Amino acid sequence: MDNNQNKSDIQNNIDFSDKPGYLLNLDISKINKGDAWLVAEKLKDELNRNNYYYYIKDNPVISDAEYDKLLRNLFDIEAKFPEIVTPDSPTQRIGAPLEGGFPTVVHSEKMTSLQDAFDYVELKDFLDRVYKDLNLSEGEVEFVCELKIDGLAVSLLYENGKLARGATRGDGEVGEDITSNIKTIKTIPLRLISDPNYKIPSTLEVRGEAYLSKEEFKRINEEREEQGLFVFANPRNSAAGSLRQIDPKVTSSRKLNIFIYAMATNAQLDIASHYEILNYLKDIGLRVNPNIKKAAGFEEIKSYCERWKDKRKELSYETDGIVIKVNSLAYQKKLGQTTRNPRWAIAFKFPPEEKTSKVIDIKVSVGRTGALTPVAVLEPVVISGSTVSSATLHNEDEIKKKDVRVGDWVLVHKAGDVIPEIVKVIIEKRNGSEKPFIMPDKCPACGSDAVRPEGESVRRCTSLACPAVQYEAIVHFASKSGMDIEGLGPAIVEKLLQKNLIKDPSDIYYLKYDDIFGLENFKEKSTNNLRSAISRSKSQPLSRLLFAMGIRFVGEHIADVLAKNFGSLDELMAANIESLSMIFEIGPRIAQSVATFFMQSQNRTIIEKLRAAGLNFSSGRKVVNVREEFNGKTFVLTGKLESFSRDEAKALIENYGGKVSSSVSKNTEAVVVGTEPGSKLDDAIKLGVKRLTEEEFKNMTE
Ligand code: NAD
Repeated sequence: MDNNQNKSDIQNNIDFSDKPGYLLNLDISKINKGDAWLVAEKLKDELNRNNYYYYIKDNPVISDAEYDKLLRNLFDIEAKFPEIVTPDSPTQRIGAPLEGGFPTVVHSEKMTSLQDAFDYVELKDFLDRVYKDLNLSEGEVEFVCELKIDGLAVSLLYENGKLARGATRGDGEVGEDITSNIKTIKTIPLRLISDPNYKIPSTLEVRGEAYLSKEEFKRINEEREEQGLFVFANPRNSAAGSLRQIDPKVTSSRKLNIFIYAMATNAQLDIASHYEILNYLKDIGLRVNPNIKKAAGFEEIKSYCERWKDKRKELSYETDGIVIKVNSLAYQKKLGQTTRNPRWAIAFKFPPEEKTSKVIDIKVSVGRTGALTPVAVLEPVVISGSTVSSATLHNEDEIKKKDVRVGDWVLVHKAGDVIPEIVKVIIEKRNGSEKPFIMPDKCPACGSDAVRPEGESVRRCTSLACPAVQYEAIVHFASKSGMDIEGLGPAIVEKLLQKNLIKDPSDIYYLKYDDIFGLENFKEKSTNNLRSAISRSKSQPLSRLLFAMGIRFVGEHIADVLAKNFGSLDELMAANIESLSMIFEIGPRIAQSVATFFMQSQNRTIIEKLRAAGLNFSSGRKVVNVREEFNGKTFVLTGKLESFSRDEAKALIENYGGKVSSSVSKNTEAVVVGTEPGSKLDDAIKLGVKRLTEEEFKNMTE
């Protein structure tokens, strides 16, 4: 194509000053050929930029609905003027180019995206095209309807029934090798079920969607918000961010899950339909979504979509549509695929549930680390089945970016179907009475100075005695992932604080029978139950206690690392920034935060009260002596060792800072081989992983 020619054709009647708005609201029928080239280029730029934020940074800056509209506009312009299609157009490609950081994997078969249908007319058009291309009519082609899980596509390669590799979709042809991270997903079998009834090909590649539950998405975001990190827009980005971690331990601390929905077609099995494939995958031990249904034609597909439009809200994971696939593999083959999508499947997308509401006020709440979070108080509105009357605005930068003012009309949705969020302000509805919000520089709970350290987005209360900080700290301390004190929820904590019965977490252990019995709704049995739960929590592992203390940047995983490395709270308290920073995974930011926490006399007093109450301060799993050849490395044991029991060998490796895994991967440092080794030795040979004799291992540990 002669670009110069096209450039000179451009009529200067397009106003790009409001580029996103203009590109979203294009009237394709009014675009002539000369303008089409320029508009398409602008759309490509915009889509590529957003692909980068979405796929590489896992942090989109526009909504999916807006992205889909931009992509649809580009498809429509290219359909009207096919000569302007370029091979690098986002309509011809999937995802975004990889950014490095992981080894790459060339997929044995392309991992495609799906064509979208945004309403039933588009769905019907798809079915009609299928009938036409197959030269058949409705009733003669069977379809399978499945939930479209909102996660990220992964490919799993099984060799001789064993998981050999896990990869992301990447750009469809080349993905990232994320095997170590994939192995942390407990529902992915490392070995397929071997049953004489099922033939398992020596090489079997399956595809599925890795995802996070709505609850886990919420938990991760709450943790990130407290720490001043950007919050994920939806479970999909959160799952992708979790799976694309360089350190598998971080992935492991996020509870990812998977549904398998396809098999690469080169599997050479005697199977004729997609429905049978799903059953086969289930039978060999893979997790397949149970809500799968065959459908004969439009009406049956529509009723499946209608049913799940509401019912999906009851699911523990997010779905963003229904995938409809032609069932017969022979028909699928006949229909083929475009560069981007199979021509035998479509994704019927649920419309994003967005409602308008009015910002009545902007209030500021104070979290357990003293973080001030502005929250919009909204006129109540029902979204995705529940009433929303407030939405977090995260921080002052976010308010500025969205320009939310008290009195504004706003568009509200639930991020990941869970977290109420303001999508945007409806500027056209402003009448001049709206009031811009100014972030207070005093804590709204105690009046102390609230400061925003340079380079951070969060403003924090500086007082340790702040009642809001105390409340949040105690709720966190008693929570399920903290000391897990059943029955000590936020409402009880609030009552105990109001009655001055507690001031900090340690006071929980000094509550008397009458203190609890005297609270509203507490009878003899509930009082005894709470007292037992408090007492039981004293023996929680040290790692939990560290997490429960709410030290900044110390999440569940880092708490575990600290407990293992120091063995006791006293040794940890005695550590300085330098010795903390020596530990694998503890960077300067965490080291500084931990050391500062234990230097505060208020915190020391609380810790002594916890000690006197009899809490467990020891992990008994101390890393005695970090050694270079073990530190941060993974070892696998196979066969019988003469000089050590399995547990002794494991303890030695862990004491030197290493980890013991039950399976061999490319990331395994070495396999220690005893007598009568198992299949792990074969795996090590195949993957070229170093093997150590017992003698060599012994020498390393002396
Ligand atoms: P897609 O999510 O629309 O559909 C394809 C994917 O669906 C497949 O790759 C597969 O992973 C998944 N899937 C889930 N359940 C499935 C099932 N049962 N059977 C088959 N596949 C199933 O397409 P995409 O290319 O992965 O991503 C596009 C999506 O990402 C769109 O929703 C788009 O809005 C969003 N996006 C948003 C931005 C942004 O800036 N907001 C940028 C890029 C992409």
